Amino acid sequence: KLLLEVKDLTAVIAESHQKILSGVNLKFYEGEVHAIMGKNGSGKSTFSKVLVGHPDYEVTGGTVTFKGQDLLEMDPEERSLSGIFMGFQSPVEIPGVSNADFLNMAYNARQRKLGLPELGPIEFFSHVYSKLEMVNMEMDFLNRSVNEGFSGGERKRNEILQLAVLGADLAILDEIDSGLDIDALQDVAKAVNGLLTLKNSVLMITHYQRLLEYIKPAHIHIMENGRIVKSGDETLASVLEKEGYKAISSV
Ligand code: ADP
Ligand code: MG
Ligand code: MG
Repeated sequence: KLLLEVKDLTAVIAESHQKILSGVNLKFYEGEVHAIMGKNGSGKSTFSKVLVGHPDYEVTGGTVTFKGQDLLEMDPEERSLSGIFMGFQSPVEIPGVSNADFLNMAYNARQRKLGLPELGPIEFFSHVYSKLEMVNMEMDFLNRSVNEGFSGGERKRNEILQLAVLGADLAILDEIDSGLDIDALQDVAKAVNGLLTLKNSVLMITHYQRLLEYIKPAHIHIMENGRIVKSGDETLASVLEKEGYKAISSV
């Protein structure tokens, strides 16, 4: 079943009207894992921000259909409630609030807005507990203050835990691999792979080919100058690895 369809999407920076997206096309079916790759500055982050309704950008053309609905008509909160999750680039620290309490509040707030039952602390704990091992995390993660004193890798893994616990029909992970050393990268990759076994639909965005050594998306798209210039299966990753972006560049 079609989850997300992007047709000829164009967008500019709201303030300067500079064109960044110049006609993005993408079709995404439920349960799939896609990666968008491309050089720095090709428009990857802009594309993901436009999908979640970031106010810095203005859509100037094209359509985005998510679960049969016009996504561009929705405000950012409606998009989130309809099932799109985007990882935060720099997650906030909340001293004195444990991860478990924070997740429970976030979970219940979402359930409330969707008119679904909330979970008390004990029920919620078993819900979280079932996800912990999946995303390769220890119990003590739950008792720590939100993101306080977390290493870069721990923050990213915490983001994956949030996603696993809160749930999303489409998770967008922008540069989940950036700034991590190889050990942290492997830990994060394990967490993402755990998430994938939960049958989530995931759109990974990355500049680095090395992430794809650990996480294997079935569909890979190359973005260049604000549009997707090539799409293919995982073999595209090995072409990239051997020959770099030049080999598949449109220019
Ligand atoms: P990527 O994520 O592929 O590295 P981005 O989407 O972040 O690319 O950026 C694409 C281009 O648009 C870059 O040249 C970037 O400098 C520019 N850009 C994106 N957002 C803004 C903004 N809010 N203000 C000014 N320039 C921006
Ligand atoms: Mg960038
Ligand atoms: Mg980016």
